[in-house]
Amino acid sequence: MSKKFVYLFREGQASMRDLLGGKGANLAEMTNIGLPVPPGFTITTEACNDYYALGRNLPEGLWEQIGPALGDIEKATGKKFGDKDNPLLVSVRSGAKFSMPGMMDTILNLGLNDETVEGLAASTQNARFAYDSYRRFIQMFGDVVLEVEHHEFERILEEAKEKQNVNYDSELTAESLKGVVEGYKRLIQRRTGSPFPLDPMKQLEQAILAVFRSWNNDRAIVYRRINSIPDNIGTAVNVQSMVFGNMGNDSGTGVAFTRNPSTGERVLYGEYLMNAQGEDVVAGIRTPQPIKSLEDENKAIYAQFVETSNSLEAHYRDMQDIEFTIERGRLYILQTRNGKRTAPAAIRVAVELCREGVISKEEAIARIEPGQLDQLLHRRMDSEAKLEVIAKGLPASPGAASGKIVFDADEAERLGHTGERVLLVRTETTPDDIHGILAAQGILTSRGGMTSHAAVVARHMGKPAVCGCEALRIDYAHNTVTIDGVTYPEGTLFSIDGTTGRVIKGAVPMIDPELSEEFKELLGWADEIRTLKVLANADNPRDAQKARDFGAQGIGLCRTEHMFMDPARIPIVQEMILAQTLPEREVALAKLLPMQEEDFYGILKVMAGFPVTIRLLDPPLHEFLPNVEELVVDITKLKLQGDREEELNEKEVLLRKVRALSEMNPMLGHRGCRLGITFPEIYAMQARAIFQASARLVKEGCEIHPEVMIPLVIHVKELAKLRKVTEEAAQTVMAEQGVTFSYTIGTMIEVPRAALTADEVATAADFFSFGTNDLTQTTLGFSRDDAEGKFLPAYLEQNILEHNPFAVLDRIGVGKLMKMGVQLGREANPGLKVGICGEHGGDPSSIEFCHQIGLNYVSCSPFRVPIACLAAAQAAVSSKGQ
Ligand code: ADP
Ligand code: MG
Ligand code: MG
Repeated sequence: MSKKFVYLFREGQASMRDLLGGKGANLAEMTNIGLPVPPGFTITTEACNDYYALGRNLPEGLWEQIGPALGDIEKATGKKFGDKDNPLLVSVRSGAKFSMPGMMDTILNLGLNDETVEGLAASTQNARFAYDSYRRFIQMFGDVVLEVEHHEFERILEEAKEKQNVNYDSELTAESLKGVVEGYKRLIQRRTGSPFPLDPMKQLEQAILAVFRSWNNDRAIVYRRINSIPDNIGTAVNVQSMVFGNMGNDSGTGVAFTRNPSTGERVLYGEYLMNAQGEDVVAGIRTPQPIKSLEDENKAIYAQFVETSNSLEAHYRDMQDIEFTIERGRLYILQTRNGKRTAPAAIRVAVELCREGVISKEEAIARIEPGQLDQLLHRRMDSEAKLEVIAKGLPASPGAASGKIVFDADEAERLGHTGERVLLVRTETTPDDIHGILAAQGILTSRGGMTSHAAVVARHMGKPAVCGCEALRIDYAHNTVTIDGVTYPEGTLFSIDGTTGRVIKGAVPMIDPELSEEFKELLGWADEIRTLKVLANADNPRDAQKARDFGAQGIGLCRTEHMFMDPARIPIVQEMILAQTLPEREVALAKLLPMQEEDFYGILKVMAGFPVTIRLLDPPLHEFLPNVEELVVDITKLKLQGDREEELNEKEVLLRKVRALSEMNPMLGHRGCRLGITFPEIYAMQARAIFQASARLVKEGCEIHPEVMIPLVIHVKELAKLRKVTEEAAQTVMAEQGVTFSYTIGTMIEVPRAALTADEVATAADFFSFGTNDLTQTTLGFSRDDAEGKFLPAYLEQNILEHNPFAVLDRIGVGKLMKMGVQLGREANPGLKVGICGEHGGDPSSIEFCHQIGLNYVSCSPFRVPIACLAAAQAAVSSKGQ
């Protein structure tokens, strides 16, 4: 006996998504809870996988299971597939486990041919409807199965509209539509060399194969790559009896979300079109009506729809995205799924569902994808700024974007890859434009509504979009757009505001983000749940303040070298580096001391009450010196001029010194605590600056927690030595100032030897901070700059590495060293505090790992603090669940 490849809707349920796909599983679930779903069956994803395993052939036994399933639909509907009097028509719909809107193909009205169309016309007494369905069927089948280009059909349809002198295809008469059908059939004969297949069983077989094939069309492959959906899970196929929204003005079709997917507000949000079928709404053929006006059109249907959508939301406990059709005043539900939403909507929906008592705080937290929050923590348009608004469309996806306008997805992609910021401007978008949307800053369309393809995809990607901006006249032939009589060529700088729908000429000023009330509430819940502390990396008081505003519980990494790069200080820093003797160096250090003291004073003050971890000087000294090539050019010029002897001598000395300091391999060279070992006076000055600032603040009554961090340690003796230098500075300052304060001294773990000997190193450390940028470089032996530019892409493509190890922590390798470091370190020093300050500290997956191995804190950039807080809470929730 062969496997069970076919499930009637009533045989399935929501939990069978792997086998039935998301659409099939939900159709089954809705059938079983008694919603008005047209009957049908699902062919499993397993059948699709077998089809590929068999070299693109239908698996044995599949076809035999389809007959009885069709029979079941026939019984339920009282119609017969292929019958010339009362024909059953079906849709053949794709549906993978993860929703991939519009990525694969669907065929409607299958089962029509020259005979059954007459039966349909007679049984419905509506020839116009019958021929409209027929021409749609041939068009979809021709496009999807026979691969005749969509626009060739559109041309024939356009001609018919012109001939009859109407604007919309819903106005075409039965006679005109018959002509269109004949035109379509001739087109197919011409393009494929065979007539359009009239046998309904053959149509069905070919359509099923085409859905399987569509799993591997280009746009589906791209979509899977962008959304990290595996390639080997296949799609299911749903065969479902048709209901008709194109039966006249008491019929229609629509899409609605149970809440607003842009803002999360609890209002029904959607659109519909009367006398239309399937894709008409999303494809932006006509601009649809807002769902609210359905109430005026038909009160009873509207009430039924509201009730159904409420019960669907209650059943799935999440915001739903629902497709429906009204056939002669009767409502049918064709699809439901958890609706895609923007980050602000995701937050608001989760928080409100929790407040409504539908989900718990833990569930609310688990529902937010931390990476998606990125878009909320970005800058947006300054509402105070004066703007040249040239048009207005629908606010389809919030946020603001500026860029050069382009009219073609390929061009958008090409320019995007060169680093240009572009806006993709189209009449409407289709799934074939996905690569261009990805590369663009934002999307602007002249047609289509809030549920159009462009809007859905943009919201999901977090890109701003303005849709249905009817003032745009796009001329693809000349690459221009005309608005109110003014023509703008490709490359003109435009801005869009997806929150209000405004289209603006030129760039616009942007401002920093603020957290919404719901976001703050959610973060409050995250704070209750998480055990990891979240600190920020900040080098100056301004960033420190931002970090505080976003809820950082201290500074995990304050880099002192950025303070040295100040143009006013560089000459003094160079004086320090170039000094030939200790007394000479001390002159320069004495000048730097008060400057550093001010730096630390500002940061410690902003972070009153919280720890501030200050790392002593880390980069190789030659980074502060002039560039060798430039010096050589200067010297050559001076030599040619021959009159400025003194200047020439100075430069030559400088060049010698710079050359002497330059290294073969600076990453592994004279840097980090190696500088402290060779020039302890530099670290002594920095420690003194930290403690002088501390003493001042203590006198002012400010609570401070300075933590001095020694970088790049490989041996406990380095740390012990530099610890002593630091402690001496503290003693001296306390004695001089007559105050006491507490402080800690720790080290970064960023070289394998430090992790391997963590038990020794911990005897001289109060804390460890994993510097995972360098630890990744030194563990893999990759120089980051070289790897990312040259060979890392090949490693990812060939699946040697699953992720870029500089973005997502390499748990197996680098992670093993970290685990060892934590364990050995705490064994030797039970009070040891352990954190992470590499960029991984802001990456959700890496944060989960940090939670698992028992770190005390993560530290990341100020803008990522909320993301880290949420990820830390999610890690706590999921480890509790295990
Ligand atoms: P997608 O995954 O792209 O949304 P669908 O399979 O949901 O594709 O179908 C495309 C359109 O056709 C949708 O608007 C859907 O509601 C409509 N449709 C699908 N099956 C039927 C049916 N049996 N009767 C009427 N409309 C249908
Ligand atoms: Mg759908
Ligand atoms: Mg480092």
